Amino acid sequence: MGRSLIRWPFRGSDAASPNQPDDRFAAARERMVAGQISNRGVVDARVLAALRAVPRHLFMLPGSQDEAYEDRPVPIGHGQTISQPYIVALMTELARLKPGDRVLEVGTGSGYQAAVLSRLADTVDTIEIVEPLAARASHVLAQLGCRNVTVHTGDGSAGWPEMAPFDAIVVTAAPDHVPPALVAQTRPGGRLVIPVGGVNDVQQLRVLEKDERGEMHGRDVAPVRFVPLVRKE
Ligand code: SAH
Repeated sequence: MGRSLIRWPFRGSDAASPNQPDDRFAAARERMVAGQISNRGVVDARVLAALRAVPRHLFMLPGSQDEAYEDRPVPIGHGQTISQPYIVALMTELARLKPGDRVLEVGTGSGYQAAVLSRLADTVDTIEIVEPLAARASHVLAQLGCRNVTVHTGDGSAGWPEMAPFDAIVVTAAPDHVPPALVAQTRPGGRLVIPVGGVNDVQQLRVLEKDERGEMHGRDVAPVRFVPLVRKE
């Protein structure tokens, strides 16, 4: 508290702005990108710029801001975590976003991944099942001036039909099988990036591309560990 939020315009240049005088974490963020992300093979310059620009510490609980740039997930309350920076970068790169794209995220959590996606796409709709997390993420995103993100509360395994189809869907909680609604809401030519596997299994981060005929082509990218995608039955 007492320190003003860094100003973070959305629609201007996509350049990173790491040297804001009131951002005491700028150097830590640079180290995060160099030492955890680009060195592990994330090469897309726009993705790296987004990771340099988004103030990850502002998505933490007040007591854990100092952990924001460490190489691991961090608890955000309600039994949930903000994903490890590398995983956020990897999933964002796999989504292959371009200006004009419309994105759906399932599992808003802290709102950090949504903020990263919002710098690379036109609109981001993000769904969170835990209402207080949705409310907090929405507040932080609004404070950052992140006007192209809309936070919804609900069960994201049904997607968000009102806004479908999406150019990309990024799921940040793991179902044991891919929800059919998310396949249906992926635009032909679009991508679904999703961890798949049960709580006790090794989950796989999977990319499913929908071809122009509507057929899905999947590949597993990396073993991962996400919280389960819960279903509201
Ligand atoms: N992307 C987040 C991290 C996600 S943690 C970030 O950047 O911080 C996974 C989140 O998915 C948790 O907040 C959890 O509550 C949420 N979640 C689990 N099942 C869900 C569902 N069916 N629909 C929407 N959100 C869900």
